[in-house]
Amino acid sequence: MIAWRGTTNRIGLSKNTNMINFDTNIRARSVGPTILMYHALGSRRDAVTTELGVFERTIEALVEHGNRCVDLSEWVAAGRPCIERRFAITFDDGYRSIALAANVLSRYRLGATVFLATDFMGRESNRSDRPPWMRDEPILDWSETRDLAAAGFRFQPHSKTHPNLTQCKNEQIFEELIESKSAIEDRLGGSCDLFAYPFGASNAFVRRAVSERFIAAFGVRQALAGPGDDRFDLPRVDAYYINTDRAIDRLARGAIEPTLAFRRPPRAVKAHAKAWIESIRRRSNELLRSAGLNAHS
Ligand SMILES: [Zn+2]
Repeated sequence: MIAWRGTTNRIGLSKNTNMINFDTNIRARSVGPTILMYHALGSRRDAVTTELGVFERTIEALVEHGNRCVDLSEWVAAGRPCIERRFAITFDDGYRSIALAANVLSRYRLGATVFLATDFMGRESNRSDRPPWMRDEPILDWSETRDLAAAGFRFQPHSKTHPNLTQCKNEQIFEELIESKSAIEDRLGGSCDLFAYPFGASNAFVRRAVSERFIAAFGVRQALAGPGDDRFDLPRVDAYYINTDRAIDRLARGAIEPTLAFRRPPRAVKAHAKAWIESIRRRSNELLRSAGLNAHS
């Protein structure tokens, strides 16, 4: 374990990269890195897509304001030190369009973590229960992930089939964790040590199952990481809300917290509403099935 002291501010860089090297002590503060969560990239913003130009301006602004990128596995392994002016980039679901980020990441020599739902690799969507308003969005195949891994992307599991794990039976939870982890390790080599919950949903049982196989896991709570966080439910900032020059500027200046605080209550309500709708849908399907009717989700 690396000892983190609050008295030194030497910052080391990994070889040939702009990522922070955690083999060096840096000044401990009360705030952790801003962990950004993206999904797809493209020319037009929608529920899962961030405009490529907005993504580029966000990364440029972060770097120009002196923010440094951290490798999440190294940050967790180092004991999750509190460090200001640090950020991490994550992409959920492995959409093929995230390859568009490669240019800007290589320009600044940054890395990103991609969470994959492994059963959907090479397919047109990552959701068997895709709602009608969500358009198909192609998912990376394994050969594309190997190309991106060479360009600085790291791949970690986000389950096999992208279910809400809090509504799965115990055996399915284990299967989703174990098989998604081994699929990535078998195809890309290395060891997966981080997990992101589909829909950000977890409960005590799910978190315990994850803690037996990973060093940390991520939800979607809108907040900056801090010392009081549950290591198996770390918050992230949904980049959906970083879509104006003003929001980008606040993020880059380390002043995004009021924006996040404003977003937290509605998202919490939304999460409860979503879980409630999902439970109604599941019960309706069970009733239809028990009545011998064909139920579609
Ligand atoms: Zn997802």
